[in-house]
Amino acid sequence: MTEYVIIGDGISGSSAAETLREEDPESSITVITDEGEPLYNRILIKEHAKGKLPEAPISIHDEGWYEERDIDLSLNTHVTGLDTDAKTIHTHEGADISYDKLLIATGGTPTQLPVDNSDADGIHHFWTFQDARKIRESADAADEGVIVGAGLLGIDFAAVCGAQGVEGKYLMRGDRWWRYALSNEGAEIMHEGMREKGVEPVFDSGVDHFETDDDGRVVAAVDPNGDRYECDFAGVAIGLTFNTEFLGDIGLEQENGILVDEYMQTNLEDVYAAGDITRFHDVLLGERAQNGSWGSAKEQGRVAGVNMAADDEAEGFQWVSSYSITHFDFPFLSFGHPTLGDDYAERKYSDTEWRRVAFKDGKIVGGVLIGDLSPQSKFKQLMREQRVVADQKEVLLEQTVDLDNLAPPQEQ
Ligand SMILES: Cc1cc2nc3c(=O)[nH]c(=O)nc-3n(C[C@H](O)[C@H](O)[C@H](O)COP(=O)(O)OP(=O)(O)OC[C@H]3O[C@@H](n4cnc5c(N)ncnc54)[C@H](O)[C@@H]3O)c2cc1C
Repeated sequence: MTEYVIIGDGISGSSAAETLREEDPESSITVITDEGEPLYNRILIKEHAKGKLPEAPISIHDEGWYEERDIDLSLNTHVTGLDTDAKTIHTHEGADISYDKLLIATGGTPTQLPVDNSDADGIHHFWTFQDARKIRESADAADEGVIVGAGLLGIDFAAVCGAQGVEGKYLMRGDRWWRYALSNEGAEIMHEGMREKGVEPVFDSGVDHFETDDDGRVVAAVDPNGDRYECDFAGVAIGLTFNTEFLGDIGLEQENGILVDEYMQTNLEDVYAAGDITRFHDVLLGERAQNGSWGSAKEQGRVAGVNMAADDEAEGFQWVSSYSITHFDFPFLSFGHPTLGDDYAERKYSDTEWRRVAFKDGKIVGGVLIGDLSPQSKFKQLMREQRVVADQKEVLLEQTVDLDNLAPPQEQ
């Protein structure tokens, strides 16, 4: 009987456990997490922090789900070490757990700002349900907020401020939100959305240090220009530090994430990785990539489970990810790898409608849609087909995209 051990009960670990049980009914499966609750919907915790959604619908699995599938779930258990020769992992309680095949699905932890007082009371990072509970409570009691981190997670803090009636200042380093994926024209729509929620974007700013009162509570953020922003709530979302510290020096190949092939295999025998923590071979992009999104993590977990059970390279990971934001009156969707292009096409259609398509070697590799998401399935189809279309930008930018208007695919 094969013994599978999965570290992490996020969506990638949990989806691997479910797949392993289906693919290998007689096996032993252990899932270990340092969180105090089984899988919940990380995408929805922002709605809880906004004060909108109660806790119950956010939970995905209760402990009974694991029992029914004969999966051994260890909550509140932090993995502290891995010995690939002895094929065991060590936990903070001093236990050794042996495995035949191991999946590392430990994701990341929000990076703290390397500035004075960045751990003061009232300054929040956002990753777990516990974080969301604290953010909800803290924002509910706050009057003025500061947000740092002009990306997909930072904007959730802006939405929390907006929904909880906190007057927010969103301090951004450059001249716009998510400057790696949006031009000024697209970003301006997002800035207007923030303003309508009572959050003011502040450009060419950031945080030099935080000020605290005698009790250690945050009272202000001071930016590198010396401008001071009073706040009793702050949200920091400047990126993730991957949870790899327990790996030590075992020869596992890493490059700001664990390197895996498209079968989710690492360079070490019987050690797999899935989810946010991987830097994987993206077969559509033709290079290594990383992907911090729910759908991608779920699929990587499933693919890892299939390959672990098959003891073979049974199925490769091939996926076009998407990430949507629903905080504003208009929808927003990023798909694929919008920041990795070498060529772009973009157009504004109205005050709340904008589109950008990113190409690499003539093929679509990602994009951003604001206001009208209807072309997404067509763009994803072209990505999966790896069709060279960068020479037909006009067709791709028509308000209603009609793939029949594209020239027939060239023989490659
Ligand atoms: C606020 C927020 C909003 C988001 N919104 C969206 C969205 O709208 N759309 C979207 O697609 N994605 C969104 N994401 C990203 C998405 O949630 C992640 O990409 C996805 O959850 C990653 O899953 P994972 O299983 O790889 O990692 P995680 O969900 O991070 O799970 C890893 C688990 O491993 C545990 N762990 C780590 N180290 C150890 C250890 N040493 N021992 C034991 N356990 C350990 C962690 O505590 C954690 O429970 C959002 C994320 C956040 C935080």
